[in-house]
Amino acid sequence: MPIGDPIKRQIAIHSLLYYKVCRDCGAKNPETAIKCRRCKRKNLRWKKREKTK
Ligand SMILES: [Zn+2]
Repeated sequence: MPIGDPIKRQIAIHSLLYYKVCRDCGAKNPETAIKCRRCKRKNLRWKKREKTK
């Protein structure tokens, strides 16, 4: 689904790349998360990002 609006596109890319992943259970958490929403542990890491254009 192509997104024409560059602002919406930026938000879409952001939400796909900027989130945290729990090292314990692998759950996806919001970027503001401190604790995992599934297992409540604080063992979160950023999603690995590769260089994008
Ligand atoms: Zn977890």
